[in-house]
Amino acid sequence: MTTTARPALDLARLRADFPILATTTRGRPLVYLDNAATSQKPRSVIDTIRRYYTSQNANVHRGVYALSEQTTAAYEAAREQVRVFLNAAARHEIVFVRGTTEAVNLVASSWGRATLRRGDVVLVSAMEHHSNIVPWQLVCEAVGASVRVIPMNERGELELDAYERLLLDEPVKLVAVAHISNSLGTINPVSEMVRLAHARGAIVLADGAQGAPHVPIDVQELGVDFYTVSGHKMYGPTGIGVLYGREQLLDAMPPYQGGGDMIKSVSFARTTYADPPARFEAGTPHIEGGIGLGAAIDFLNGLDREAVGSHEHDLVEYAAARLCEIPGVRLIGTAARKAAVVSFVVDGVHAHDVGTIVDQEGVAIRTGHHCAQPVMDFFGVAATARASFACYNTREEVDTLVRALHTVRTVFA
Ligand code: PMP
Repeated sequence: MTTTARPALDLARLRADFPILATTTRGRPLVYLDNAATSQKPRSVIDTIRRYYTSQNANVHRGVYALSEQTTAAYEAAREQVRVFLNAAARHEIVFVRGTTEAVNLVASSWGRATLRRGDVVLVSAMEHHSNIVPWQLVCEAVGASVRVIPMNERGELELDAYERLLLDEPVKLVAVAHISNSLGTINPVSEMVRLAHARGAIVLADGAQGAPHVPIDVQELGVDFYTVSGHKMYGPTGIGVLYGREQLLDAMPPYQGGGDMIKSVSFARTTYADPPARFEAGTPHIEGGIGLGAAIDFLNGLDREAVGSHEHDLVEYAAARLCEIPGVRLIGTAARKAAVVSFVVDGVHAHDVGTIVDQEGVAIRTGHHCAQPVMDFFGVAATARASFACYNTREEVDTLVRALHTVRTVFA
């Protein structure tokens, strides 16, 4: 067991902000440890969405009437909140999308198809989520480019020497890397990777789906060219996310979906396109999602992010230590720099059985390949069980998981 001091965070007050944490499942208090899949929502986000539909609902960017103007102002204010949250240089570098999946597909379809040529290389890391692999495979297949892989070691850390060699040896145009891995919890050295990529003339997209919820993000300090966010993993609504793109890149990118809102003018002879971000936001957007994401950012800004970071780190260390006390439990992903995720396997028990049994005790964990099948292949497992933490989780909840895992051992003894 670790002796790490518990940081000063008023957990009882924090938890009271999340109505779902007071509910039961299978007759037991809900122990929600699947935050890497999606986080729970604080009352302020829920109330913002309720308020939106009771008093604010109108389409944006079109109406000349007061309600539409106010809603447009609220939606665009949320974009400004995102800009500040990510420390982007300009508001038009913030594109609202559905989430990280759509953000990566946008870049692959638009930048990728316009830029990549036969023989070019896109580097992805060995620990990527499928959504930062498959869009690159699709575009590379279409243009005759190829996807190469930055390898990792047995702890689940990227091998930077091999990365540097790939950059030297291959005509790399883009590097796609997770800021934080959802299956292993590894925090990747993004700014160092950006420095190396830029020195070779390649650009970098960081998948921030697991980054934004856990560490303060400064896209300028990271130096990334693209950064993606999924609102639902950072206490915001589902269906809303962000693509941050460097201004010069977005300016040069063609639209990838056509429709309303993304044009300057339309005629049957010739259509011209709006400037970013509108160029990439065809159709009626997820208005309450954007405004709700603004409320989630307010919630995060109201927290002591440093205290939350050390609390989540404490939970990872505590969980890792306690899980290792259980005979037959093996951790998958033991990087020196980790955030919020503990993946493990139980000898002789399929991860789905682990998940089903701990669910009987009210504990919600994820089991499966976590949309990272290459990671499972690398570690030679079909699936893992994964506990992933948010600001509101407690050591007591980890204890409940550990007790439930002892039951798993008994059932399969
Ligand atoms: N990348 C990572 C690292 C993720 O954890 C996830 C979600 N599990 C995604 C991408 C995809 O995000 P979304 O489903 O919100 O588009």
